[in-house]
Amino acid sequence: MADVATLREQVRGMVITSDDAGYEDARRVYNAMHDRRPEVIVQAVDEADVIAAVRFARDNDLELAVRGGAHGVPGYGTWDGGLVIDLGRIRYALVDPDGRTVRMGGGAVLGDMDHATYVYGLATPAGFNSTTGIGGLTLGGGVGAYLSRKHGLTCDNLISADVVTADGERVTANAEQHDDLFWALRGGGGNFGIVTSFQYQLHELNDFYGGPIFFELDAAPDVMRTFSEYTTEAPRELGGFVGFHIAPPLPFIPEDRHGDTLFALVASWSGPGERAEEVLKPLREAGPIVAEHVGPVPYPGLQSAFDALLPPGLQHYWKSDFVAELTDEAVGVHMEHGPKVPSLHTAVHLYLVDGAVHDLGADETAFPVRDARFLLNIAGIWPDPADNDANIGWVREYYEAVHPHSGYEGGYTNFMAEDDQDRTQASYGPNYDRLQEIKARWDPDNVFHLNQNIPPD
Ligand SMILES: Cc1cc2nc3c(=O)[nH]c(=O)nc-3n(C[C@H](O)[C@H](O)[C@H](O)COP(=O)(O)OP(=O)(O)OC[C@H]3O[C@@H](n4cnc5c(N)ncnc54)[C@H](O)[C@@H]3O)c2cc1C
Repeated sequence: MADVATLREQVRGMVITSDDAGYEDARRVYNAMHDRRPEVIVQAVDEADVIAAVRFARDNDLELAVRGGAHGVPGYGTWDGGLVIDLGRIRYALVDPDGRTVRMGGGAVLGDMDHATYVYGLATPAGFNSTTGIGGLTLGGGVGAYLSRKHGLTCDNLISADVVTADGERVTANAEQHDDLFWALRGGGGNFGIVTSFQYQLHELNDFYGGPIFFELDAAPDVMRTFSEYTTEAPRELGGFVGFHIAPPLPFIPEDRHGDTLFALVASWSGPGERAEEVLKPLREAGPIVAEHVGPVPYPGLQSAFDALLPPGLQHYWKSDFVAELTDEAVGVHMEHGPKVPSLHTAVHLYLVDGAVHDLGADETAFPVRDARFLLNIAGIWPDPADNDANIGWVREYYEAVHPHSGYEGGYTNFMAEDDQDRTQASYGPNYDRLQEIKARWDPDNVFHLNQNIPPD
C-alpha cells in the first residue's frame, strides 16, 4: 500500500482509500457494470493536485486512471488497484462574451458549458446529455447532434488546452505552442495527458427549435430514407437524429402507447425561428406520427431533455460505426434488429456527421472520419445486471449484422466498449501512425493507457 499520508499533504482535494467513509461513492462511475476498487482516489480541486497525483502514481508504480464526467462506457474512470484522478471538482465555466470563447475546468460537464454560454446567446457543439463530461467527449471528438452540422465537432472548436503530462509537468497546447500535442488532443482521447482546462470557440445562437417526434414503427424505413435524402441538401442549421426507442411514459405520448416500440426522430433547427416550421415539414410528413413535442425551446433545455431517462447506475454496453450511406440493405438490417430493442433506456441512434464536420480534412485533427454521413450508436442500456447476457447479446448481434453495410472498418472511440480495444487502430485509420509518434514523444511509458489505447510507436 502506497504511503498516502505524503499525498494528503500535497493535495487540497480529498484523497480517499477504502478506509475512508466516502470510498463507496467515490469509486463509482456512471456505467454500473464497472464495480471496481481503486487503491487511491484523488478528487482534485486544481491543477496542482493533478500534478501531485500524477507524480505520486509514477513514484509508487500505481496504474493511473483519469475521470472527467465519469460517463465513459468502458469505465476507465475507475480501476482495480491503482490511482484514480477524479477531475469532477474542477468544474468552472468562464465566458468571454466579446471574444466569444469559454474556458472550462477539465472536470466540467456539458450542462455547465451550455448554462454559462446561453445567457449570452452563445453556444458550441457538444453531446446532448447534460451530465456528460466535456473532458472525455472533447478528447474523443465530440458529436453534437444539434449543432455539429453547422459548427463542426466539439474538438474542432477547441482553441487551447492546459495539459498535465505523463511526467507531471504542465504545458499549454494550441495552434502556437506544442501543436503536435494539440493535434492529438482533438480526437486522440485521453492518451496524451490530463487536460485541466479547455478553451472553446463559441457561436451565436439565438432562436432554437426542436424536440422529439415518435412515428409508428412500420414507418421506420420511410423515416430513415426521408431523413437521409432530405439532409443531403437541407441547410446546416438543421440537426437531429433518428432511432428505435421504446416509448417512455412521458406526458405528451398517449398513455396506451407507453411501452410500445416506436421510431423516433429528434429534430432541431438553429436558424431563424420563422423558418422552422417550413424546414421541418418534410420530416414531419415522413410517416404517421404517434406523438410529438416539437417547438421553440431554449438550447440548454433540449440538451438536457433526456437526462431523466439516463440516470447514473444503469448497465451500459455500446457499439458504434460510421456510416458512409444509409443503403436499402442497411435499412433492411435495421428493421430486423431495431424493433427488438430490449429495454426502455436502450437507444439505437443515427446521428448526422456531415456539413461542417466535412469542412476539415482527415489529417487536420486526430479525429479522422470527415466524409461519413452518419454515426450509428447501438447503445444497450438497462437496469438489472441479471439481464446483461440478453442485452449484450442483442447489441452484438445487431452490430455484427449491420457493420458490413457501414463502409468503414473503425467506429467512434467515444461510443466503444472495453472489448473494442482491437478496433482502435482501425478507428484512427490514416492518423494512427502519427498518433503513435506523438504518444512516444509525450507518454513513452504509456502512463495514460486506461483508455482506447494508442501505444507509443
Ligand atoms: C448518456 C450519454 C450520452 C452521450 N452523448 C454523447 C453525444 O451526444 N456525443 C458524443 O460525442 N458523445 C456522447 N457520449 C459519449 C461520451 O463522449 C463519452 O462517454 C466520453 O468518454 C464521456 O466523457 P466523460 O468525461 O464524461 O467520461 P470519463 O469516463 O470521465 O472519461 C472518459 C475517458 O476520457 C479521458 N478523460 C476524461 N476527461 C479527461 C481530461 N480532462 N483530461 C484527460 N483525459 C480525460 C480519460 O481517458 C477517461 O477514461 C455520451 C455518453 C453517455 C453516457
